Amino acid sequence: MYKSRELLLKAMENNISLVEPVCKSSFDEAERNEKLDNLRESMKTFCQIDINFNKYVKCENELEKRRTPEDFETNKSFNELLEEYSKKKVNVEHHEMYLKLEEKIRLLRGELEDGVEVSRATPNIICPVSKQIMSNPMTNKLCGHIYDYSSVIELLKLSKKGIRCPVPGCVKALRFSAKDLEPNNAVKKYISQMEKEKN
Ligand SMILES: [Zn+2]
Repeated sequence: MYKSRELLLKAMENNISLVEPVCKSSFDEAERNEKLDNLRESMKTFCQIDINFNKYVKCENELEKRRTPEDFETNKSFNELLEEYSKKKVNVEHHEMYLKLEEKIRLLRGELEDGVEVSRATPNIICPVSKQIMSNPMTNKLCGHIYDYSSVIELLKLSKKGIRCPVPGCVKALRFSAKDLEPNNAVKKYISQMEKEKN
C-alpha cells in the first residue's frame, strides 16, 4: 500500500515537471491553456486518490491503537470510521501537490509575462524564498509580492540599505526594508484553513 503511494507521488512530480515544457512550447495561448488545464485535471485526480488513501491510513491507525476485544466491541468498525472521515470534505485544490502545480504554472507564466500574475484562483501560499508553505505571510507594499516573515527577515539582515524584491521577474524590484512589509491576513487565514482541512 505504501509502495503505491510512492508511485502516486512520482506521478504527481511527473505531472508538475510537464508544466515547464508546456509553458515554453510554441503552442498558441488557447492550446497552452488547454494543456495546462489537462495537467490540473489529472493532478486533481491524483490528489483525490491521495486524500482517500489518507482516510484509510487514518482508520487503520485508529484500529491499531485497540488492544483488547472490548476495544473492538465498544468502538466504531472500520467502515463506520471510514464513513465518518469521508463526511469531512477535503478540497482537492488545497492539496499540497495541487498547490505546487499551480505555483509552478504561476512562476513560469510570470517569468514569461514579466511577473504579471495570470491565475488568481488560489492565493500564493508558498514563500518564494524558502519554497515552503508560509506561516506568517507578509506583503511587500512596494510591489505586492508575499514572503514568509522568517525568510524575509533573514534576507533583510544582510543589508542595512534594504534589499530588492527576491522574486524573479519582479517588475518593480525596488529596495525595501521591514517598514515596507505588512501582514497579509487573508493569505494567513487561507493557509490556516487549509492546514485545518489537512488534519
Ligand atoms: Zn516584488
